[in-house]
Amino acid sequence: MEKMKIVHYPHPALRHPAKVVSCIDKELRLSIGHMMELMYDAKGLGLAAPQVALPYQLLVMNVTGDPMKPECEEVYLNPRIVERKGTVEDEEGCLSFPGLYQKIRRSKSIKIQAYDLKGQLVEKVVSDIEARAWQHEIDHLNGVLFIDMMGHIAKLMSRSAIKDFEREFKKAQEKGEIP
Ligand code: ZN
Repeated sequence: MEKMKIVHYPHPALRHPAKVVSCIDKELRLSIGHMMELMYDAKGLGLAAPQVALPYQLLVMNVTGDPMKPECEEVYLNPRIVERKGTVEDEEGCLSFPGLYQKIRRSKSIKIQAYDLKGQLVEKVVSDIEARAWQHEIDHLNGVLFIDMMGHIAKLMSRSAIKDFEREFKKAQEKGEIP
């Protein structure tokens, strides 16, 4: 197996809707461990499987971003948002767009249903930064990126950064670094 890494925009894996996970096997557990490591290395709060080019509805999170707080680690499968309340705008970044931060409008609080690693359905209500992280990661599972959620001004302000990512990607492709 090729070594897992975080793919950057505009890698096509980021646009493919992820598949429902129906079996939690050893390989999946290994992938989860790798994703958690990559997330901490990149100083992120969450990582969705499409960001490591795995086509599964799987996400890992630790909203403290602190590897010394493993009790805050969360791993969920097949998550969905079943209720939304309020909206709030705040700064957001993405590990697939390193260095790009923009204000994004999100629901302030959401109710989520997801499966944990025991295969049990979990329902919870989260708000503020946690709700933001969930919405961002669930978007990834649907092939939606935070640049799609930007308002007009944020989009304009990101234009040159996005062009740079596209240029970098093309270069890497030409060098054969991306299959
Ligand atoms: Zn992201």
